[in-house]
This record gives sequence, structure tokens and C-alpha cells, in this order.
Amino acid sequence: NKTSCVSPANGNGMTLPSFPSDHVLNLEQGDPTVFESYWRKMGDKCTMVISGSELMSYISDFTSVCWFLEPALEAAVRRFHRTVGNAVVDGDRHIVVGTGSTQLYQAALYALTSPGRSEPVSVVSAAPYYSSYPDETDYLCSALYKWTGDAYAFNKTRHGPYIEVVNTPNNPDGTLREAVVKNRSDQGKLIHDLAYYWPQYTPITRPADHDIMYFTFSKSTGHAGSRIGWAIVKDREVARKMSKFVELSSLGVSKDSQQRAAKIMGVICDGYENCKSTDNSELFFDHCHQIMGNRWERLRKVVEQSEVFSLPNYPKKYCIFFGDSVEPYPAFAWMEAEEDVDTEKVLRGQIKVQGRTGRRFGVDQRYVRISMLSREDVFNHFLERLSTITSVTNGH
Ligand code: PMP
Repeated sequence: NKTSCVSPANGNGMTLPSFPSDHVLNLEQGDPTVFESYWRKMGDKCTMVISGSELMSYISDFTSVCWFLEPALEAAVRRFHRTVGNAVVDGDRHIVVGTGSTQLYQAALYALTSPGRSEPVSVVSAAPYYSSYPDETDYLCSALYKWTGDAYAFNKTRHGPYIEVVNTPNNPDGTLREAVVKNRSDQGKLIHDLAYYWPQYTPITRPADHDIMYFTFSKSTGHAGSRIGWAIVKDREVARKMSKFVELSSLGVSKDSQQRAAKIMGVICDGYENCKSTDNSELFFDHCHQIMGNRWERLRKVVEQSEVFSLPNYPKKYCIFFGDSVEPYPAFAWMEAEEDVDTEKVLRGQIKVQGRTGRRFGVDQRYVRISMLSREDVFNHFLERLSTITSVTNGH
């Protein structure tokens, strides 16, 4: 009976029992439902009403490079980054909105290449790289660019012009990264994917200031369903080409979603601006940092006791947002088996937990990526099941 397998959170954010042991726990995607409980507690603070006659036009501001970007979202994005301190948004920085940062990745590839070359431009990222980069790069078999794999293995002399995607902190392994292809000169361009450069996951060490960097509403506040991402772009022509891509592929981005994103970012910023007399643990990043810390602490205990897997260790760093030295709490657990096994298969076979194999990220099958962003009840069940594993073999 499928319905009895589901264990939704009740109105108080408390979890109800329970999952049958043969129910597969899906921890494969990074669906950020962990943050739902926070927003439930916020009640009506983010509620907005849109009447039938509002937000009907395609156009937001025809004088802007990104003419479908709602001015309210542009202002909210700049304020959000100023509040957190994780990106430079002042000076001549252009904002381009996308249907998720997924669309902006493709827009950036389009903007950094031009037709008429004999060979497509190579696209690389250091392994383990985000598993969607290869698929998103190649699914239309573009003549402009092609996925070339691990940036560490890239040979500039042989392959010529290239684009390196730098994802920091990195999905799947949580490491802080810089470009790895050396001597870039004018042959190489960079795209910075900063989806996880938010205080609940990682110390904010400085305001990022790259040529093209993008962020997403999905991982910053947890509202993946709104499909809002934004890029901060230094060069006007690159911003114009990225906007052109969004125009050609979807004729803009939902204004309803843009307005909702602006509202939610505003509520977070208001909280920090007025926080002198309130308890900080009720503020979004403080609260979510605590949740992530609690999950990581519990996971590390279980993994240490089991002695069959290991997790990376992340050094503490000074965070300019919290004003303190803090530990990173990545959105994914990058688990490595001590034995030479297919860890995804082992977890699926032994404890009915679905992760994503290291092979999808360009590395060994001993690794598996597990989402740390599930609802609390799913995470609790995961830990309970993980604690029952005392040995691993490929037979399972
Ligand atoms: N970049 C990275 C590194 C991601 O993990 C994700 C989401 N899993 C995305 C981009 C895309 O996110 P979205 O399209 O929801 O903005």
C-alpha cells in the first residue's frame, strides 16, 4: 500500500511515523525540501496576492539589457547579495534572470561561443563534476561547444579553445575550487556556478567577483519549484547574448516567480536588517546553518561507527557573514566505501537508499552522492538504515 509508505511532516513541522523497510529512500536528487519547515514556521510572511490583471505582459523593462527581468527582482537580488556579502553586485554588473540556473548555464555557453568555427569549443570541469554538465552541454549536439570532460585531463594545445566551469563549493564533494586549467590566455573562458555559495553550506570568505557567475533560488532559499536563477555578468555584450538565449528559448522568465522570489529574498533581508532585538536563530541563514550542522554531526557519528565508509573533512574558515570561524556543511554527502565496491548498488541493495554513483560525476563507483537536503523524516530513516551496515560486498 503506497500511501501508507509516505510519512509527511505535520503542521508543526514534526514528523510522523514511518516508512516500511522496503520503501526506497530517494536521496538521489538535491531537492531542497529541508527548508520547508523553516518557511512553514514563517506562516504568512511571504504570502502575496496577484490579481488577474497583474504581470500579464512579456516585457518588464525594454531599456534594460535583460528586458524580461522584473525591476523588483533585480533590486532584491542586489540587496540579497549585499546582505550576505557573497558576491559583488555594485558597479557595472548586469543581472540576467533565467528559468533556474540550468537555463543560465546554457545561456552562458551560447554567449561565450560563436558560429563559424571548424570545431566546437571544449567544455570542461574538474572531476568530480556536477553530473548534469555533460548532459546539458551535449543534449542538442551543438556545433558551438561540446563536453570534453575532466578539466585536469584537458590538453589545451591539443583541444584549443575551451570553457571551464568552476563549481564552488562543488557539487558533489563540497570542496572549494578555483579554475584548474593553467595559462588560460584568450583561449579559455570561465563560468562560475555558485549555487551553493550561501552561509548555510559554507563559510562566506569574500564577495565573489568573477566575469560570469550564477546563483539559484533553488539552493539559496530552497524554492526550487519557482525555477529562478540569476547570473551576475561583468561584460555587457555577454549579458546581452545570455539574455538573447533566454529570449529565444523561453521568451523570458515567469514574472509570477520573479515577484515571489523578490518577496522571499526581501523577507530574509528584512530579518537581518531588523535583527538587533530578535533571536538570530529565527533568521533564515542562522536557522538553516544549524539544521545542516546538526545533520552533518549525526551523519559523521554513524559513518565513524560503521567503519565501512568515509566522508571528506572540511577545514573551518572565517565566515564574513557569521563573523566567526565556521565549518562547511555541504548540501551533499560524498561517501566513499573502504572496499572496492559499487557503493550506489550496495546502498540500494542493503538498505534501500538511492544515491547517485560516482561514475555520473566522472569518478570511481566507490563513491556515492547522498542528498543532505531531504525532509527530516527521510534523513532520520536514512541514518537509521545506514547504522545497520557493518560490511559491504558487491554481491548485494
Ligand atoms: N548547479 C549546480 C551545481 C546544482 O547542483 C544545481 C541543482 N542541482 C544547478 C546548478 C541547477 O539548479 P536550478 O536549475 O534549480 O537553478
